[in-house]
Amino acid sequence: MNNLFRKLPKLDILMKDEKLDECREKLNYNTLYTLVKNEIDSFREKIKNREIEDFEVEDIIKNILDRSKFAGNNKLKKVINGSGVIIHTNLGRSVLNKKIAEKMGEVVSNYNNLEYDLETGKRGHRNSHVEELICKITGAEGALVVNNNAAAVIICLNEFARGKNSIVSRGELVEIGGSFRIPDIMELSGSKLKEVGTTNKTNISDYERAIDEETALILKVHRSNFKITGFTDEVGNRDIANLGKENGILTMEDLGSGVLVDFSKYGVVKEPTVQESISSGIDIITISGDKLLGGPQCGIILAKQEYIARLKKNQYLRAFRVDKLVLSALEGTLRYYLDEREAVREIPTLRMITEDKKEVLKRAEKLQKMLIEKNISTSIIETRAKIGGGSMPEETVPSYALVFTGDAVKLEKYFRTGDINIIGRVADDSFILDMKTIRDEDMEIIVEKAINM
Ligand SMILES: *Cc1c(COP(=O)(O)O)cnc(C)c1O
Repeated sequence: MNNLFRKLPKLDILMKDEKLDECREKLNYNTLYTLVKNEIDSFREKIKNREIEDFEVEDIIKNILDRSKFAGNNKLKKVINGSGVIIHTNLGRSVLNKKIAEKMGEVVSNYNNLEYDLETGKRGHRNSHVEELICKITGAEGALVVNNNAAAVIICLNEFARGKNSIVSRGELVEIGGSFRIPDIMELSGSKLKEVGTTNKTNISDYERAIDEETALILKVHRSNFKITGFTDEVGNRDIANLGKENGILTMEDLGSGVLVDFSKYGVVKEPTVQESISSGIDIITISGDKLLGGPQCGIILAKQEYIARLKKNQYLRAFRVDKLVLSALEGTLRYYLDEREAVREIPTLRMITEDKKEVLKRAEKLQKMLIEKNISTSIIETRAKIGGGSMPEETVPSYALVFTGDAVKLEKYFRTGDINIIGRVADDSFILDMKTIRDEDMEIIVEKAINM
């Protein structure tokens, strides 16, 4: 055994071993030190417990190399968004306010009252923390939060139209994102799709004719990511809601983006708001939490209490429910909506959409100046930033970008990869960083990256 102990390498000598060079490039000194020390300790322990009869230093090195793959930064990490797409699905959709993130941290790093009623000392419902807030802001009678809008649509169709027909206009049989396709979602929910109308035109009589004993509900789907223009017709919410009531069937709207403020006040194109949908009389409305609402990934179902009560008993809820991280972030985001001015100022997605372009220009000039101090020259151009995927696809807001000189393709890759990750875009053979989605706190980091380009 003593021989084996003697074979253990010294920490400082192993630290300098050239076989660990690849780790040295990737990890900082402290991380590597801990890795090497832990591995030597672990072999010492194994010798003591007679778990190994022999070993080579190579074995220790191999383990260190293996472990180094997972050391250091998490794989899921911060990136700087210079793409100019505000709600970027691949970059995590909406950004949360830092104050919300702090509260989330406190909730999840402690025990909390997720399903505990502090007044009665009895079991509570996890939905209760946000339901009242959602109702107050939207005017809905009841609300339920699930994993995302896709889950919201599935659970509603399953509860209210399982084994029966759901009527959908052919102009609304959409695909959103990679895998949300209305016909597939319908099948998954156990409801049968009854298509009516044509791609460009659907009238109220198309819906009327399709209603029979097999009909459970009429579903309206918001065309989030495309437009139909030209010779078109669709039936408005109020008419759909009335038709449902006359025939004793439910009406539902998959609104997609949960727009809670009227953007036209801020010079941005008008999107139907959740409040408008509710007042049209539609029975059930579903929205996403992380698009134009600006919160965490979740889906929100808005409906009368009697429907919410039924959904709470649906077995899918066990699989679709949200955790404390999401509920904390959602509550924090919704609180801002109690005062619209605060929502527009504090919720990053809303702030970026409504912000005056002069503010963007100021940021562009500030970053340009910081770069000049390091002898890096850039120019500023006017751009249009996109509001982004699955919300207002064609809508843009005025913005400015910094244009870097050099091989655009190489620069794009350089900024994107490595320890610091900055996602820009190539436009007209130049690498540009759109300043709409870049914040003051990102600028030092961008300069640091640019120094070595
Ligand atoms: C975005 C969107 C969905 C999917 O929502 P997720 O929250 O991503 O699941 C469904 N329907 C519409 C109309 C949408 O815009």
